[in-house]
Amino acid sequence: MDEKKLEHYRKILREQLRTRSENVRESQANALEMKSSDDGPKDSVDMSLLDVNQEIALRLGERESRMLADVDQALLRIDEGSYGTCARCGEQISERRLEALPTARHCAACQEFIEQNGEMEEISTL
Ligand SMILES: [Zn+2]
Repeated sequence: MDEKKLEHYRKILREQLRTRSENVRESQANALEMKSSDDGPKDSVDMSLLDVNQEIALRLGERESRMLADVDQALLRIDEGSYGTCARCGEQISERRLEALPTARHCAACQEFIEQNGEMEEISTL
């Protein structure tokens, strides 16, 4: 992949990194806010609703954190020069796929195989 294209994906990924970091901060702030407002007497219905909301906010934060790690790794791969290469078969990942999913580590065929076989990414990249 040439420099110009790498730079293109780098820009997309950096933008994602920025917006996702904000999302994580927001979700975590929301979760904390719910926690800190959890004082004073409340009936049990309010309490459980609060727990559920907090749980959701925390989970969203976790999911965003994982996606953030994906973006981070994709940026690392750009620096390493392995970006756009399938981690499983070593083939080039199609640009159409990268445009849709800039953090993709596998080509469409391998991704399908992994999903169908439940193969762990960790194993496939060894
Ligand atoms: Zn592949």
